[in-house]
Amino acid sequence: MRNIINIESFKVYSGAKKGVKIPVLDRPAHTLELPLTIINGSNDGPTVLITAGTHGTEYVGIAVALRVIREIDPSKVSGAVFVAPIINILGYELREKDTFPIEDDYNGKQNMGALYPGDPEGSPHRLTLHHIFSKLVSKSQYLIDLHGGDLYEYLHPCTMIYPTGKKEFDDTLKKMAKASGIEYCISQPLNKNSKGLTAECAKLGIPLLVIEVGSAGIVKEDLIELSYNAVINVLKTIGVLSGRPKTQPEPKYIKGITVVRSTKGGFFHQTVETGSLISKGEKLGEIIGLDGQVIEEIHAPINGLLIQSSCNPSTNSGDGIIRIAEFY
Ligand SMILES: [Zn+2]
Repeated sequence: MRNIINIESFKVYSGAKKGVKIPVLDRPAHTLELPLTIINGSNDGPTVLITAGTHGTEYVGIAVALRVIREIDPSKVSGAVFVAPIINILGYELREKDTFPIEDDYNGKQNMGALYPGDPEGSPHRLTLHHIFSKLVSKSQYLIDLHGGDLYEYLHPCTMIYPTGKKEFDDTLKKMAKASGIEYCISQPLNKNSKGLTAECAKLGIPLLVIEVGSAGIVKEDLIELSYNAVINVLKTIGVLSGRPKTQPEPKYIKGITVVRSTKGGFFHQTVETGSLISKGEKLGEIIGLDGQVIEEIHAPINGLLIQSSCNPSTNSGDGIIRIAEFY
């Protein structure tokens, strides 16, 4: 018989699903609590943590996590699935892109993913991360982190993995990326300078798959479907969810991203859609001056996939307006 899961003062019996709230920070007038659903399976197996909303305005990931909570049946789970649909609760509440809204001491507002494992004696930001990391991340055997393009960008769907050079671990990362069925995967090997969630997971031997689906604050059903099906097929592939996984083709691996910047300020008009395969020298867009004249043409510096672009036409000189993925 599978064990009861005890977390804080909550107990979740085998074959049960329960929503709880984990206190992570005392604020002036209330306690900030992390919503968490625990799905304790009927059979033994690993614990998978699914997180979303580290960036509180990447809404497709949040929608997918909420659907996973609704639809996964504990009787079909071997092990446990923990779902934290919104890591950056304050960012979500305030509709604030990218960062945790409370400043990290004198360093200003910071990206939540970058400061793991947090610090039990650190700033409110680091203290919050310490609770999330010590109570959830470090107790997991797998992590699926749901992201997408933020409010200011169009992003073509992809996954991200962070190989370590250890074959067995890296093979698991590739198995998860393939199982997702998402066509493109950015593979960024870790090095000694790597920090944040990716590096901390690798240290603990927790395979992490990042799923990037969605853009510009828009929630579309086909994107939810793509990301949800990816999560479900990964869970089946690693044996946590019963049912035969669908065999997916190998993803096309991306080794790096080249940023294309404007040299003029004005109105950015993109002429090639995000998600297009492009050739070196191809025109991708133009900057229109506020006198109505084209003042700069934007051309591709390399062959690759136009993976990301600014959805905000208001452009300064120096803005990274397009990102091109280069294949291995
Ligand atoms: Zn994100």
